[in-house]
Amino acid sequence: MHKEIPYKIYLEETELPRHWLNLRAFMENKPAPLLHPQTLQPMTQEDLSEVFCVELAKQELDDTTPYIEIPEEIRNFYKMYRPAPLVRAYCLEKALDTPAKIYYKFEGNNTSGSHKLNSAIAQAYYAKKQGLKGVTTETGAGQWGTALSMACSYFGLDCKVYMVKCSYEQKPFRREVMRTYGANVTPSPSMTTNVGRKILEEFPGTTGSLGCAISEAVETATGMDGYRYVLGSVLNQVLLHQSVIGMEAKTALDKYGEKPDVIIGCAGGGSNLGGLIAPFMAEKLQGKADYRFIAVEPASCPTLTRGKYAYDYCDTGKVCPLSKMYTLGSGFIPSASHAGGLRYHGMTSTLSELYDKGLMEARAVEQTSVFEAAERFARVEGILPAPESSHAIKVAMDEAIKCKETGEAKTILFGLTGTGYFDMLSYEKFHDGKMSDYIPTEEELAKGFAGIPEISL
Ligand SMILES: *Cc1c(COP(=O)(O)O)cnc(C)c1O
Repeated sequence: MHKEIPYKIYLEETELPRHWLNLRAFMENKPAPLLHPQTLQPMTQEDLSEVFCVELAKQELDDTTPYIEIPEEIRNFYKMYRPAPLVRAYCLEKALDTPAKIYYKFEGNNTSGSHKLNSAIAQAYYAKKQGLKGVTTETGAGQWGTALSMACSYFGLDCKVYMVKCSYEQKPFRREVMRTYGANVTPSPSMTTNVGRKILEEFPGTTGSLGCAISEAVETATGMDGYRYVLGSVLNQVLLHQSVIGMEAKTALDKYGEKPDVIIGCAGGGSNLGGLIAPFMAEKLQGKADYRFIAVEPASCPTLTRGKYAYDYCDTGKVCPLSKMYTLGSGFIPSASHAGGLRYHGMTSTLSELYDKGLMEARAVEQTSVFEAAERFARVEGILPAPESSHAIKVAMDEAIKCKETGEAKTILFGLTGTGYFDMLSYEKFHDGKMSDYIPTEEELAKGFAGIPEISL
């Protein structure tokens, strides 16, 4: 069985997954249903179809079909940048002098620079198939907007992105990538929507927030014929599409007879982690194999480790459905952390339920320790990691160092979600010693919790 394991395990194109894995179908305790923000009744297919494409609304509600076929057009697009390599981190193992074997699944090999393209292309495909003209969305730091603009240009869809104003001004590079792919990028708040005009009137000079950008994107989509709103994380459909990460990783490991003991990923809304663990967690839930899973979040936005498990609004404007999830409250504003993609107040319902039932662990880490890990990783493995991804690197390194202490030769798998080329201002702060670690106090968290609605079902 023991073949020599190469530095990079590339699968053949023919080994690209033909199906997405719907983890919820394997769960005995299903995640609670989404609730309508006005009636507080479970969202129906009809309700959801007003905001999302019909096929995506179906996927959002499906918690019984274990495998869903990936349409050929999407597989063809995946072939441009997938299968993504699974890398054996020989150099990192050596640097840490650990008996552990470390693998990482690298999702940064596409122009958008992260895993988000896996779902963007699926969402654009279903929008096109339904005959829509275009889609709207929000973006903070810009990874999701970039991925979506690439996907829309491939299918000839219009793409309207509301980009949080401070990022629009301070991070011109992702904005220009989006425009290169033909997206229409508007700094939010803007004068193009009612909600934007209202916010600008109340708070002139505001630099915007993700919650406000969501509200503008939803208003624009629902106010225009042939447009729908799309979202890059948190939703069930996004986890489903991201299962390609885990399916490929498992196929590659199986080829070499390898079985991970610990699987680690960073968690913002939970989509890359949900996708990475999907086939492994399905085995665990069926009693076929056992694995440890660790979600890593910033100590500045400790959704799982310090949040509450409750129904809450998914957005600040309270226009989106409510989800039962670990949450810090939709009004919680995390400090200006450098991992923009991990600053969400909630966690996808699937991971929330798994964590609540003790099937997954969570750990919060401070950002200077994350950048230390990122830099160490870059120097030995060559890849310059995104700050978000570096949360997983940090904990993978911690686990490998533990193995050195105990002498256990564990196999560790982690998700390397993207590259950090557009995050060099954060690296600069780190290098100049100007980065601080902010951990919210109990009082600050209490303010966010106070905004969680009381819903008893
Ligand atoms: C958006 C993003 C994340 C976090 O999103 P999840 O939905 O939790 O996966 C992590 N890494 C990168 C590079 C991102 O762009």
